[in-house]
Amino acid sequence: MAFNLKKSATAFAEAKRHIPGGVNSPVRSFRGVGGTPPFIAKAAGSRIYDIDGNSYIDYVGSWGPMILGHAHPEVVSEIQDAVTRGTSYGAPTLLETELARMITEVMPSMKLVRFVNSGTEATMSALRLARAYTNRNKIVKFVGCYHGHHDSLLVKAGSGAATFGVPDSPGVPPAIAGNTITVNYNDEQALAEAFAQNGQEIAAVIIEPVAGNMGLVLPKEGYLEKVRAITEEYGALLIFDEVMCGFRVAYGGAQEVYNITPDLTCLGKVIGGGLPVAAYGGRRDIMEMVAPAGPVYQAGTLSGNPLAMTAGLATLRILAHTPDFYEKVIAVTTALCAGLKEQAEAYGFNYQFHQAGTMFGIFFNDKPVYDYDSAKLSDIGAFNTFFHAMLEQGVYLAPSQFEAAFMSAAHTQADIEATIAASRKAFAKVAE
Ligand code: PLP
Repeated sequence: MAFNLKKSATAFAEAKRHIPGGVNSPVRSFRGVGGTPPFIAKAAGSRIYDIDGNSYIDYVGSWGPMILGHAHPEVVSEIQDAVTRGTSYGAPTLLETELARMITEVMPSMKLVRFVNSGTEATMSALRLARAYTNRNKIVKFVGCYHGHHDSLLVKAGSGAATFGVPDSPGVPPAIAGNTITVNYNDEQALAEAFAQNGQEIAAVIIEPVAGNMGLVLPKEGYLEKVRAITEEYGALLIFDEVMCGFRVAYGGAQEVYNITPDLTCLGKVIGGGLPVAAYGGRRDIMEMVAPAGPVYQAGTLSGNPLAMTAGLATLRILAHTPDFYEKVIAVTTALCAGLKEQAEAYGFNYQFHQAGTMFGIFFNDKPVYDYDSAKLSDIGAFNTFFHAMLEQGVYLAPSQFEAAFMSAAHTQADIEATIAASRKAFAKVAE
């Protein structure tokens, strides 16, 4: 039967009657690519299944967490066990200490870890802490980096040299956004100017050390070192937002790959194994300012939730104990990217293929992409055509040119071959 999304279309219409735009996070609505988002009924391994009975090879992986694939039997069984002991206590557990201990072992820059429920909370709390520690108010973020939807970071306006922030959303008070300075990713000069002008007021620089929210954009060689050096020079803290790239580009995250020690790190996604977990942590002297050890308040009814901790622990244990886990998943990612590139080139497209460990992305752009401005020059129409052609053939990519793709350990050789074969038809459509 021809591909159709009839039930999803009805479900979407009904959802819109009760939920703004029919979704609980905007990109899920397919606004960028048009059409109906498949409503998902279940997922297993590398696949997701929608309510119309279509199945898809999934390269979204819940936007990053599902590095083991969906419904990994060990993770599921541990969650099933845990749920029989109660779903939330609001009191300390051994699980929290164990997950914190594992994280501090993997990322030695994190001497103390505080668990929260979302990446947004992690970056929000890390900023408050950085401001308290330095007794300064301004922060620097990079255009095109996403750190969640709280007021200070929902800002990316302006390009070129340092620009004072303008809110990206109504409702963000200009007084708050005004403390956010945005500079272009990979632009050394812009960062230097921001510090030259505001250096003594800057509490922190927050960066996705591998950027995954403008499509996948890698730091230029030496750039992160420059960011580290200038923050040290001015006494500002360096916050690595590894919510997405942590446990993705390598077990030890981007800080291991690039050998940089940030002052604070934010984590999320993989560390929760598909349940709501995120964390922030870092230098002991800084983290000891967090309540109740110190005066910087931050709390959460469901923080350190036992089911979520269990899913995270089960996931990290598998990552830690499976021989060559990353080498294998990275090799599969590399093979897929090479296959897709070959298909694109066969149609004369000189697109940009980026990979960082188990993350990858294609810019429909024949020029190098190194920041948000260069990413924006991509051919969005070509991406949208490709996206829908892949979806109809059972390949689920993120519904936006400006999102990364994620590989999992459950993706098989057959999945990779099927994806490459689908891409041949999809690139042919783009070429029409
Ligand atoms: N930081 C980064 C780098 C992210 O990619 C995201 C979400 O995609 C966040 C923070 C926000 O995390 P959450 O959606 O869990 O609030």
